[in-house]
Amino acid sequence: MASPSFADNQYRLEDFDQALHEALARQEFLLHYQPYLDLATYQVAGVEALIRWQHPSRGLLYPDDFIPHAERTGMIDSIGEWVLRQACAQMSEWMALGIDISSISVNVSPRQFSNSALPMLVQAVLNEHALSAAHLDLEITESIVPSDEKMMRSNIAALRQRGVKISIDDFGMGYSSLERLRTIQVDRLKIDRVFVSELALNPMDACLIRSMIHLAQQLGLSVIAEGIEDAEACVRLQSMGCDQGQGFYFAAALDADACEKYLRDVQHGLRADPCRPGQSSEVYYPAQSLPNPR
Ligand code: C2E
Ligand code: MG
Ligand code: MG
Repeated sequence: MASPSFADNQYRLEDFDQALHEALARQEFLLHYQPYLDLATYQVAGVEALIRWQHPSRGLLYPDDFIPHAERTGMIDSIGEWVLRQACAQMSEWMALGIDISSISVNVSPRQFSNSALPMLVQAVLNEHALSAAHLDLEITESIVPSDEKMMRSNIAALRQRGVKISIDDFGMGYSSLERLRTIQVDRLKIDRVFVSELALNPMDACLIRSMIHLAQQLGLSVIAEGIEDAEACVRLQSMGCDQGQGFYFAAALDADACEKYLRDVQHGLRADPCRPGQSSEVYYPAQSLPNPR
């Protein structure tokens, strides 16, 4: 079990910065990948890259333990660049192996979006891996308010012009709300899992999700729900017209090998046995209980 003490501010920021530098140099970061599916066909539409830190003494650390600190120290720029390169390299490798997924999603902090070099960096990484921009989706994470809102808007416009897709992550929560839609043009809304988790119990959540889907449709955006944990939520979202879904019901975040197996299994109509969520090296894909596609 990872110690939580990194997140409880016992560390001085300089020490943390130093630790993140060393982690990057020692290649202690890794990516897990969580598939998301088209709810009309149950085909995998893409995978989201989620960073982990294999800490030498604390075990596997999750992003909430260190990404907020990386944002404060500015290390998020270097870490984010590593994530982008790694995710694009993996996507390119999977495509070369004939694995049929249309997108790789990468979480990008508002701080990275405020850096004028981002569009050039993204283009350079796409070129390095001979990937088309249409295969890359950048999720604007909730985390922090961007340091330069104007630069963020102009970077997003430049990236979209090159064909990169932009999603608003955790839509409906905090800063990732209507304000973002008012000021930036995006391609997809990702409904925060807090609305999805109690969908069956709370009629207000159903009402809010329906409104978010309607809003996305009116604006010509696609919409994905995260945090789908059971068949009931899946069916409800499907009936509300939600385009895509992600969550433990389909698959947890998987290491690259397990994700590749999952992608192959779905592509070939094979499904592994369901397992309990959280076992990140296992596949959760309950073939028998999947409702019929729309
Ligand atoms: P997110 O982008 O909203 O990612 C979804 C989080 O929800 C992931 O946690 C995922 O494992 C978890 N999740 C997925 N399905 C379910 C489900 O059905 N139920 C529940 N309860 N949880 C589910 P994770 O990997 O710990 O990531 C947390 C957050 O860290 C991410 O939220 C994202 O904001 C941030 N993050 C992850 N990787 C990166 C990165 O490379 N760069 C940046 N800037 N942020 C990152
Ligand atoms: Mg995300
Ligand atoms: Mg999210």
